[in-house]
This record gives sequence, structure tokens and C-alpha cells, in this order.
Amino acid sequence: MSMNCLMAGAGLSGAVIGRMMADHGHQVTVMDARPHIGGNCHTERDAETGVLVHLYGPHIFHTDDQEVWDYVNSFTTFRPYQNRVKTTTRGAVYSLPINLHTINQFFGQTLRPDEARAFLESRADTSITDPRTFEEQALRFVGRDLYEAFFKGYTVKQWGCSPTELPASILKRLPVRFNYDDNYFFHRFQGMPENGYTPMIERILDHPRISVHLSAPVTRAMAADYDRVFYSGPIDGWFDYSLGRLGYRTLDFERFSHQGDWQGCAVMNYGDPDIPWTRITEHKHFAPWETHAGSLLYREYSRACGPDDIPYYPIRQVAEKTLLAQYVDLATSEPNVTFTGRLGTYRYLDMDVTIREALDCARTCLNALAIGTPLPAFSAPPL
Ligand SMILES: Cc1cc2nc3c(=O)[nH]c(=O)nc-3n(C[C@H](O)[C@H](O)[C@H](O)COP(=O)(O)OP(=O)(O)OC[C@H]3O[C@@H](n4cnc5c(N)ncnc54)[C@H](O)[C@@H]3O)c2cc1C
Repeated sequence: MSMNCLMAGAGLSGAVIGRMMADHGHQVTVMDARPHIGGNCHTERDAETGVLVHLYGPHIFHTDDQEVWDYVNSFTTFRPYQNRVKTTTRGAVYSLPINLHTINQFFGQTLRPDEARAFLESRADTSITDPRTFEEQALRFVGRDLYEAFFKGYTVKQWGCSPTELPASILKRLPVRFNYDDNYFFHRFQGMPENGYTPMIERILDHPRISVHLSAPVTRAMAADYDRVFYSGPIDGWFDYSLGRLGYRTLDFERFSHQGDWQGCAVMNYGDPDIPWTRITEHKHFAPWETHAGSLLYREYSRACGPDDIPYYPIRQVAEKTLLAQYVDLATSEPNVTFTGRLGTYRYLDMDVTIREALDCARTCLNALAIGTPLPAFSAPPL
């Protein structure tokens, strides 16, 4: 039996689930509150410079997931792209993630890999046996000098709190390399869609059984008109924030343009606490196969998210998780809604994980329909 599905959100979650439901004979209506598709991955050309801009911040595609890589490549051409991040701190420019070059440059040394490993171990705080906070984790593994130069100031600016208040798990994800590999990601596949993410998502949504409506916010009351809603907006927003708001960090982007090449790389971080921005992105470097005389840059600032701001990074500290558990209870009682994606499950998700979860979610739903069991309330457990 064909279902009438509503996708609330035309980002990757809504598009990928919607496409699979349409491919399997279901009618799909996609609505997004914004005037464009693509969600936070949206890209568009800057009218002044012609540069392809990542409107909601820089997005680099990277994955180890063969099916996800094949999936995105079936909708667009990907160009090879490796993310190489630099950071300006204490009046010098270093490469990130911390690698042998960073260590040798910072300490004025010429260490080889094993020597660097031993050197860092000698500077680490080995009295910390069970690191609990971000700060303890950093002090244990890289020592105070590298921690203060590369992590402390940046983290305070990014999260608006002391690294002593953040869990150690955040830093566990940041590798230190004892070689000169400055490729930011470890994944097998890495690249950029040749014409940006929005044309790719446009093709995912290009199906005779899919209709797309923009500047069209979905409300809870509309769920009654559909067999199934896949909601990729904020979970607390679905319930009109009735239990309170989940905490997010938002970003402000200060745009500026330049003739020529302003910083020589796509992303420059700023580690010093007295520089108010966290990083500057020069968008034309994300498409090195294009030539533009002009350049468009974003100076990026992080701050607490207010009611009228765009929610970017879920905070997920103890208080937020307690509130999230209450919203999860409400969500599981909704008769015909599946909460999906980064906002629907209140988690930071890279694009490849978003697509993986969306594919799995659609398959689970199709399977449940085939055998007559209930559809899931979430594409993945939020807690
Ligand atoms: C600053 C930043 C940088 C990132 N960089 C990378 C990167 O380099 N590599 C990577 O892999 N990932 C990156 N990501 C993650 C990436 O943005 C997400 O994986 C992806 O956007 C998740 O897609 P989504 O569809 O779940 O959510 P979104 O893209 O947020 O889409 C949700 C959509 O739902 C719409 N919506 C919300 N509420 C409603 C409503 N009530 N009715 C209708 N529409 C609604 C919104 O307008 C939005 O368009 C980054 C994220 C951020 C914040």
C-alpha cells in the first residue's frame, strides 16, 4: 500500500529518506522552513565573486562507508579534496592536527617520530591516570604547552565554557600524529561535489513522486494529514519547546571579500583567546579546480544559541541530556512521526553518518511496512 509521507526538512536526512520512500512507490511531500533545499550543507554562488560558498560553514565530505560513497557519487561528480587545516596561535602559523611538523616547529626541535613520542610523554602530566575532563585529557596526552596553545583558547571560544567543564571524550577524537601527515581526516574517501552540495541534493529529490515546497514550516498539527512524517527539525521545536529549550551553540559569519588570495588556504583556525573568532574560511580554496580573481571569506564566531538563532552544535551536557530524555519520551508517543537527522536526534552528525542513518532508517521503515510492524520513532537512538 502506498503511503503519503511528509518530510519536514530538505537537508540530507529528509532528501535521502524521501528518495528511498519514493523509489519504493510512496508519495513524498518535502517541506522546508528555509527558502532553499540542502539544510546546513547548502551551497550557492556568490554574486560578486562567483565563488561557491558553503553558506552555513565549511563542509568537507569524508567517509569510510563504501555504500555512502557510492550513493553520493551516483548523484554528482566528486572532485578529490583533502582538508589541510592551519592554525594561527602566539604569532605563528602551524599545521593541524598536531603532527610532527607542528611539534618540531612549536618546540624548535628536529625530532624523529619515536623521539617526538618520548618527548611529548616527558611533557605529559602522567599523574593523571583516568582523565575525566577535556583539560585532563589534553594535559595527560600532550602536556600544558601544546594544550594551552592549540586547544584551550579555541575550545573556550567554541563552547563558551572552560575545558574543565567538558568531557574527555571530545579530545579523544583529536589525533596527534607522529609523522608529517597533515590530512585532517583519516577516512578512505574524501572529496567535494564539483558543483556544490545543493545540486547533489536537488538530484536526490528529483523524482516524479516527490514534491518540494520551500519557505514552508511544518507544524505538529500537520501530521494528521499524512500517513507518516519524517521530521528532521529540532526535537524540542516539534513540541513547541513545552518542556524548555535544548542548548545549542550557534555561529555568526562575518562575510568579507578580497581581490586575490587572502590567506592561501581554506581554513585558518585562531587559537589565541584574545582573538574573538574561531576560524576564517576562504571558500574558493574548497574548489581548487575553479579560478576566481575575487575571494569570499567568513570570519566565524561561536556563541550561545538564542530562540531566533540557527542551532548548530548540540551541547549535550548532563542538563541537556536530562531534558532530551523527557522529549524522547514524548516523541515515542507520537503516533506517526519518525525523528531523524542531527536536529531530530539532537546529535552532531557528519554528512556520511547522516546519510548512513537515513538509508538505514528508510530500509527499517520499508521492512516494517512489509511485515506490518510499527515504524521506529527515531532513525537512531538519541541518548
Ligand atoms: C558548522 C558545521 C560544519 C560542518 N561541517 C561538516 C563537514 O565538514 N563534514 C561533514 O561530513 N559534516 C559537516 N557538518 C555536519 C552536516 O551539516 C550535517 O551532517 C547535515 O547538515 C545533517 O543533515 P540534516 O538533514 O540532518 O540536518 P540539516 O542540514 O540541519 O537539515 C534540517 C532541515 O530541516 C529544516 N527544518 C527544521 N525545522 C523545520 C520545520 N519545522 N519545518 C520544515 N523544515 C524544518 C531546516 O530548515 C533544515 O533545512 C557540519 C555541521 C556544522 C554545523
